[in-house]
Amino acid sequence: MKRTRIYFLSAIVFLALACPVFASDAGPGISADQAIKKLADGNSRYASGSCLHSDISQARRAETAQKGQHPIATILSCSDSRVPPEYIFDQGIGDLFVIRVAGNVADTDEIGSAEYGVDHLGTPVLMVLGHSKCGAVTAVATGAEVHGSIPALVDNIKPAVDTAKRKNPSAQGDALVRDAITLNVWQSIEDMLKKSAIIRARAKAGEVKIVGALYDIETGKVTVLGPHPQEQQLLAAPAPAAGKH
Ligand SMILES: [Zn+2]
Repeated sequence: MKRTRIYFLSAIVFLALACPVFASDAGPGISADQAIKKLADGNSRYASGSCLHSDISQARRAETAQKGQHPIATILSCSDSRVPPEYIFDQGIGDLFVIRVAGNVADTDEIGSAEYGVDHLGTPVLMVLGHSKCGAVTAVATGAEVHGSIPALVDNIKPAVDTAKRKNPSAQGDALVRDAITLNVWQSIEDMLKKSAIIRARAKAGEVKIVGALYDIETGKVTVLGPHPQEQQLLAAPAPAAGKH
């Protein structure tokens, strides 16, 4: 009888550990500010050349394979080969839920991925990470000719470049690109808030902190810009239809 009970309890514990629903919905168990602090500390280590090479061990791999993932942040960043979030923030396996796309744009697939990170995995932070000398933003700012599927991609960046030109009509070259890179970070956050009922609901409930950030590819430093300047207005606007982008 006693042995049967032990087997039963063991089975319950095993199911709780193995089932991805149990394992992934709980979130990482830290606040947004604690998560941002971990990212900032990791970036300081990276920028100063003192990375811990945070946990990429076989043990960590086995642990996350068995117990599921509990990333501390969902990060939308550029595909640029100089901008790998896990290195930049000195984080290990299972620490970051990363979406990478040229120009860190937020279109349907990126928003769906962000919803998974924020809603299903319960990350307390959603960060859009732009970076200096971004080729995708530069292409739009300079009116470069693009082909194939790229026009549909860079369409997402055009509003940021238009805003940059409107705000500072005399800006050209590097100055225009710099302004557009920052505005493009805000554009992606705006797109997510306008098109995702799920992310809006989480943000309104204070369950996720959405921040913009900029990475300098020369210094290695990330500057966290904070929430979207018009976050309150964006959250106050009528909610988008659930599930529609
Ligand atoms: Zn880029």
